[in-house]
Amino acid sequence: MEGSTEQETASRTPIPLEEPRPPRSTNGGGPRKWLYAYTEGDGKDKRLLGGKGANLCEMTQIGIEVPPGFSITTEACLAYLAHADRALPEGLLEQTRDAMRALEERTGKGFGDRTEPLLVSVRSGAAMSMPGMMDTILNLGLNRDTLAGLIEHTSDPRFGWDAYRRFIQLFGKVALGISDERFDDQFERVKRSAGAAVDLELEADDLEEIAGRFLSIVREVTGRPFPDDPYVQLELAIKAVFDSWMGRRAVDYRREFGITPGMANGTAVNVQTMVFGNLGDDCATGVAFTRDPATGENVLFGEYLVNAQGEDVVAGTRTPKPVGEMESGMPDLYAELEALRRKLESHYGEVQDFEFTIEKGRLYCLQTRNGKMNASAMVRTSVEMHQQGLITRERALTRVNPEHLEQLLYPQLRSDVDVEPIGRGLPASPGAACGEAVFDADRAVELGRAGHDVILVREETKPEDIHGFFASRGILTSRGGKTSHAAVVARGMGKPCVAGAEGIRVDVRARQAVAGDTVIEEGDVITIDGTSGSIFRGSVPMVEPDFSAELRRLLEWADEEARLKVRANADTPDDARRAIEYGAMGIGLCRTERMFNASDRLPIVLDMIMAETTEEREEALSRLLPIQREDFRQVFHVMSPRPVTIRLLDPPIHEFLPEEIQLEDEIRHLGRLRETVRGMEVMAETVELLAGDAGPAPAGALTDTRGVDAVIARKEAILRRARTLKEVNPMLGHRGVRLGMTYPEIYKMQVRAILEATALCIRDGVEVHAQIMVPQVCTAEELDAVHADCREVQDEVEAAFGVSLDIEFGTMIEVVRACLRAERLADAADFFSFGTNDLTQATFSFSREDAENKFLPLYNERGILRDNPFEVLDQLGLGRLMALAVEWGRKAKPGLQVGICGEHGGHPQSIDFCHGIGLDYVSCSAPRIPVARLAAAQAEIRSRT
Ligand code: PEP
Ligand code: MG
Repeated sequence: MEGSTEQETASRTPIPLEEPRPPRSTNGGGPRKWLYAYTEGDGKDKRLLGGKGANLCEMTQIGIEVPPGFSITTEACLAYLAHADRALPEGLLEQTRDAMRALEERTGKGFGDRTEPLLVSVRSGAAMSMPGMMDTILNLGLNRDTLAGLIEHTSDPRFGWDAYRRFIQLFGKVALGISDERFDDQFERVKRSAGAAVDLELEADDLEEIAGRFLSIVREVTGRPFPDDPYVQLELAIKAVFDSWMGRRAVDYRREFGITPGMANGTAVNVQTMVFGNLGDDCATGVAFTRDPATGENVLFGEYLVNAQGEDVVAGTRTPKPVGEMESGMPDLYAELEALRRKLESHYGEVQDFEFTIEKGRLYCLQTRNGKMNASAMVRTSVEMHQQGLITRERALTRVNPEHLEQLLYPQLRSDVDVEPIGRGLPASPGAACGEAVFDADRAVELGRAGHDVILVREETKPEDIHGFFASRGILTSRGGKTSHAAVVARGMGKPCVAGAEGIRVDVRARQAVAGDTVIEEGDVITIDGTSGSIFRGSVPMVEPDFSAELRRLLEWADEEARLKVRANADTPDDARRAIEYGAMGIGLCRTERMFNASDRLPIVLDMIMAETTEEREEALSRLLPIQREDFRQVFHVMSPRPVTIRLLDPPIHEFLPEEIQLEDEIRHLGRLRETVRGMEVMAETVELLAGDAGPAPAGALTDTRGVDAVIARKEAILRRARTLKEVNPMLGHRGVRLGMTYPEIYKMQVRAILEATALCIRDGVEVHAQIMVPQVCTAEELDAVHADCREVQDEVEAAFGVSLDIEFGTMIEVVRACLRAERLADAADFFSFGTNDLTQATFSFSREDAENKFLPLYNERGILRDNPFEVLDQLGLGRLMALAVEWGRKAKPGLQVGICGEHGGHPQSIDFCHGIGLDYVSCSAPRIPVARLAAAQAEIRSRT
């Protein structure tokens, strides 16, 4: 199937996910090893043990206090999913029992034991981190018997019943598929009748009542009692975690983030001894980052709750305290936490996002993973960690996703605007966003698809809201902290988020949020500022942010590493200035036609087009010459001494004429006007006759139709010209060098402007490296002809200015034939520049405009083409043409300079490809330059490893 070959290109866009396949090999004869204790697993093998499992093994083995446990492998998951009846693979249950026995020995507790019960958590964990996408069960092993033991052991009935009711709900949801709402509803009822404002006010009796109600829900929904046998619980839990890999949430997440089976295939299951942060006031639980994930600052960052279990922090049901407050409340433990942070960072060489629990004054690390941060924090931590000697410069460069750099160019609220916020929350993910308030994820998707900018407003978010995140420009929640689901996911996506805005009452059913006196209905525009935590009614003015010092530093390092140079597509002196700010090393494409667009220039361009003879055309061109010359002179000044590639006129000239239909309208309108004027003329004569000498003065100029006649005649002439120039398929018609062939005087004028501007700069002592580039070339003869004209003009300019000009002459490669004739073209050119916008159209025979809004979305959805080839360079087809053109071009002219100036020049994966086939530079629009600089460095680093 054609589609399957096309799937080979790597990509971030939707990927059809493979069905899981069973592992291919087995361990000689006996059943495979399906699980590894944390003391034995290979901490580097994330594919086998999942990221979480591998890290737990690694932490255990470097001496960090981790509750003992084991990881069931991703291979076991694949074997289970591939089994027709979804059965656990042979040997897994036996190995699980053995591992549980080993845990019993280590902890001195018994699984299902009445006196000292061993309880475990069961969590998923794939090779790639997918926060909140899969499932967790806590306190597994509880039943009436072991609960009694737990209560006896801890002398804390409240704790025991709390643990039990949590377990029933989590197990009910994850393993038995019962919706959270069923449980939450009963929980709230008991809470209300007990008069408890917060969960902590619930007594042991209340929690017992809740547990009883939960057990009834399970019986009612499943038709069976809640399973009491701990091993049955464990088996069901393992299966549920495996199943969650193919659950909708996880599949959607993988598709959205382009996680292929090659990156993560199946989930591991982590079975780990429970430790409790809710056994009293010498207990706590929290989540922390080794550095502030919003700013990158080198401080321990996080939140914790005393006397609570981990899910309380993450779910946002209680608002946690900043971890810094622990320093006064639990100073020794805070010092231990600081030590843990340093150990984690120096071991992993990466910012870590970790969970901890303090049980009776003892600190445990429950998991760690690489911290997800926004782009500015990634950049800052890269620079600082390298400066601290924690990571190499190469690592500092490769750990930042180039695409994310664009986030740094996202708008921030303008500081001089004085608007009163209607509410405040926690600044959970920086940047500002503005849009219509929507109160559920489906609606966000609906409106987002219809082209609206939306802000998703919720009390708190859950993993099932993920599609709403994708569709929204920002997220606002009224509950939860900076590590709540909303905050973590928004940060990972680089979307602004304000979390825990407790002053705002969100009523999802009424589709309304109330902040003091302000009522926000669905569709009302709001602005959120994830940097400060403020929320505003209406739209607040924003500004583009500046480059930070750290970003500049990182990009300097990138430039030192990269082999590819990065130039800008810039058409005016202003564009050029902006490009320099972004670090452009030259201009790779100056589209001269864009210089014609100013209102004072269009009439001259029109005269040029309307000219019937060469003389008339030259007269118009002589008026354009000084204008172009001045533009070029300024561009050269700005860019000096960097190279500037100027492309001669490319689009079909009728693009500068008004639309035919518009002209027809105007002529009709003027015709009617002329009739009216004529009527007035008759009227004026009549009045004059009737009034004799005493009458009013004649209407004179007012009734003179000559002015209107002249305008009509001009418009009719333009219409005739427009009809003459009209083409069935202008993109394949009379454009580019073909225009240069038919009207050589146009190109000559442009060449003269370039050369005279160069000569003027030389006189001013400004160093210029100008390159003249011819578009749409398909034969060397075209190029030779233009080149001959260039030389002629050059001789004249050199003589007139008394200077010698060193100008390079080259061609765009945007026609398939040009690729195939690269060897001969290279004879006539000093450089090539791939115009991959046109070359993609030509290679696919797709017209971009028609493809992108007619059939390409369907092609992508069906997996016929993985990517939009106008965004992601098609390496398999177009890429081969390019590689051939480079090879053949350099065969004729070793050292031939080759670049790319189509849109792909700013796309990281495409840049990597360009690096691979030996291009010298990429050229892209100014805001993509930082992305391209980093991508170019990464391409070089990757090619070395
Ligand atoms: C191209 O075709 O890739 C190109 C840069 O030219 P334009 O986009 O102006 O057609
Ligand atoms: Mg082009």
